Amino acid sequence: MRIVLIGPPGAGKGTQGVRLATEIKSVHLATGDILRAESEKGTDLGKLAKQYMDKGDLVPDEVIIGVIRARLSETDNVILDGFPRTVTQAEALDNALEEIDRPLDVAIYINVDQDELVNRLIGRASRENRSDDNPETVKRRMTVYAKQSEPVLNYYRLSGRMKEVDGMGTTNEVYGRLRKALPD
Ligand code: AMP
Repeated sequence: MRIVLIGPPGAGKGTQGVRLATEIKSVHLATGDILRAESEKGTDLGKLAKQYMDKGDLVPDEVIIGVIRARLSETDNVILDGFPRTVTQAEALDNALEEIDRPLDVAIYINVDQDELVNRLIGRASRENRSDDNPETVKRRMTVYAKQSEPVLNYYRLSGRMKEVDGMGTTNEVYGRLRKALPD
């Protein structure tokens, strides 16, 4: 199965994606994690990405599309977390999946109230020490999400592939809803 998890920063895509991937035996492809790992290794890709990540901006489409494309053909079952974040990326994903004849099954939107998102990100900042979880960058990431990533919801909604899940409540509750949203 090919699944996309979408939602704003702090919606729980990572937490839910890791668990879902283990339980349905899929590869969890989280672009933020991939870029952070590259940055820690000090690769050219990592150095480039860090300049954008630290500001809360998106890395250029062609860069991230290249990263995902290279990994897509490695597996049949994949959960994409944090990708696509622009309509250009969503179109590129459809094209790439079409080429390998494994179309997307569903895009699941995890919907969380704005106030709750901010509280979660502040909590995460103190636990994980992520350089982009400081108040200024969080604000920028929210703005970037509203402007560049929200149109992706419509892209999937209009093509009848989007399911919406209430992301409020405990991680177990959200996980239960997520499982129900998966196609048979
Ligand atoms: P995340 O861990 O998903 O919140 O991603 C952290 C940061 O990585 C984002 O704020 C972006 O700078 C970058 N990033 C992750 N995924 C993408 C993507 N699909 N397109 C562009 N930038 C991305």
